[in-house]
Amino acid sequence: MIITVASGKGGTGKTTIATNLAVALNRPLTLLDCDVEEPNAHLFLRPEMTERFPFEVAVPEIIMEKCTLCGKCQELCQFNALAVLPQTVLLFPELCHSCGGCSLICPEQAVVEGRRVMGEVERGRRGQIAFVHGRLRVGEAMAPPLIRRVKQEAPSHGLTLIDAPPGTSCPVVTTLWGSDFVILVTEPTPFGLHDLELAVGAIRELQLACGLVINRADLGDRRVHEYAAREGLPVLLEIPFDRRAAELYAQGELPAAILPEWRARLQALAREVFARTGHPFG
Ligand code: SF4
Ligand code: SF4
Repeated sequence: MIITVASGKGGTGKTTIATNLAVALNRPLTLLDCDVEEPNAHLFLRPEMTERFPFEVAVPEIIMEKCTLCGKCQELCQFNALAVLPQTVLLFPELCHSCGGCSLICPEQAVVEGRRVMGEVERGRRGQIAFVHGRLRVGEAMAPPLIRRVKQEAPSHGLTLIDAPPGTSCPVVTTLWGSDFVILVTEPTPFGLHDLELAVGAIRELQLACGLVINRADLGDRRVHEYAAREGLPVLLEIPFDRRAAELYAQGELPAAILPEWRARLQALAREVFARTGHPFG
């Protein structure tokens, strides 16, 4: 079972919910941080990191001795990753989607496969929680290949929680794909509502089940609640601003590991999600 914690915008408390939920469940599970452009779940969870390895993708290499500068590879490439000039062929590796088309179409077999490091994957553990995140290299334009690699770490059995990137762009859709349930974290502000509407639109396109967590529920207005009622979106949990929780974060602690009411609150959230997906809570 895969539960993804997402939000239409950053700063709503998405990672807070994902990491506290992982701790509150107190059972074997896998937590994947798919926000590969800015992973931060490890800062909250503080797992012991055990392994790190580079993430590579295939990129073409042109053997200029064989190349006749015919231009067929440039014509084929939908991503403008190749430019055939009068004397040479230029590759823009950051634009390459590793489709392999240029190699197939080249009449001279002048295109061979090279490798390029895009980022890295790290594995770690905190108690019963197996933790994995990806880290995209600075300047890289495409997060989805690394996100797909991190998602491969989800075991075929058991529970996986995913901390998604914020927003509704390609990396988010790549992360959401295949989820059994999406917990959308929002806040009761006009910005929160605007970005929530976008996120709900994306989730509905993907035909995924979802429900809301309203964070800092006592600090805004009622428009998010009214929107949820109008759209038939279940509000699974409302979390008021909690000074003690903020103090615990400042000390590097997770509230669900210390405060019984936070643990109970997040267990109730998980129970509700399990019920909605037809899985026994156990
Ligand atoms: S298709 Fe092959 S021969 Fe033609 S320009 Fe590209 S690399 Fe060179
Ligand atoms: S592998 Fe695909 S995306 Fe990359 S340069 Fe070749 S045709 Fe373009």
